[in-house]
Amino acid sequence: MELDKLLRNNIKALKPYSSARDEFSGEADVYLDANENPFNKPYNRYPDPLQWAVKEKIAAIKNVAPEKIFLGNGSDEPIDIIFRAFCEPGVDNMVSIDPTYGMYQVAADINNVEVRKVKLNEDFGFSAQKLLDATNLYTKVIFVCSPNNPTANLLDKAEIIKLITDFDGLVVVDEAYIDFSPESSLLPDLDQYKNLIVLHTFSKAWGMAGIRLGMAFAQPEIIRIFNKVKYPYNINILTQKKALKLMDKIQEKEEWVNAILEERGKMVKKLFKLPFVQVVYPSDANFILVKMNDARGIYAYLTEQKIIVRDRSKVTLCDDCLRITIGSPKENKKLRKVLKKLV
Ligand SMILES: *Cc1c(COP(=O)(O)O)cnc(C)c1O
Repeated sequence: MELDKLLRNNIKALKPYSSARDEFSGEADVYLDANENPFNKPYNRYPDPLQWAVKEKIAAIKNVAPEKIFLGNGSDEPIDIIFRAFCEPGVDNMVSIDPTYGMYQVAADINNVEVRKVKLNEDFGFSAQKLLDATNLYTKVIFVCSPNNPTANLLDKAEIIKLITDFDGLVVVDEAYIDFSPESSLLPDLDQYKNLIVLHTFSKAWGMAGIRLGMAFAQPEIIRIFNKVKYPYNINILTQKKALKLMDKIQEKEEWVNAILEERGKMVKKLFKLPFVQVVYPSDANFILVKMNDARGIYAYLTEQKIIVRDRSKVTLCDDCLRITIGSPKENKKLRKVLKKLV
């Protein structure tokens, strides 16, 4: 893969905004360089544009060098930046599995980039060759998601690796739910695959959807491009501080994951017994996809009972399916109790 050939010409030529904090990044006694207000500490100061303290900590946890990490306002930011940096609007395209996370398509649409969707198999597995067959000379990036949303399953690792190896452009593997799965992340293999971008997030296993912090991992050449295109201060001070604190409590995160996995097992077993439930698909994530008679009717009934799940019945391969997030033991029990009343 030649990164230069993938990059849009305007991005190649771009001279990025240089902030006060870019031009001086050491330690000083008096800061009079950024037109900040001297009062209201510590929020008066602009945040570190490259969030090095946060990245150092992530680096230690994930065993990836800090210069291979990009932090975004949720995973949505790196997804958008990939299109803005690599895909010429109205010319280039991307290939993705279908069904999958909706943001890839939305970000592509906003950037006027054609989406070439390749339907998953009936068992929600995928074939690398089918995705490769959907590419052409203008395909800059392929998106896969494992475990996939909304189907909840891991994709075959050997197939993902075939995709990365055989494709000349970028391959994004979104591992937002990897902590809930028995499979290991692709991160240890990052250096082997120069065209690989792995996405992680603080929104799911880490329980921090509210602070909006997503991670992209890739070779430093790719991360430098992301940094050039992003807003200068894309991660605010509050988020950086909270993330630093949170990462000291990795054990708590693991306890949450274990509790969710235990609840997931219980939920699968009990929902399976309801006569109107046709299939509870195997899950490697913190949600389950359930096929049932009259999914739309049941969705409406649950909403009336003030329980909100996700109606996925109009999604490819998901006819009559609801997507149910695993909640607290109490929330899950309430859902089951309300569903049982239908029997
Ligand atoms: C929830 C989710 C994310 C996380 O998005 P954030 O913007 O980081 O909250 C990323 N990818 C997938 C597939 C998801 O389902």
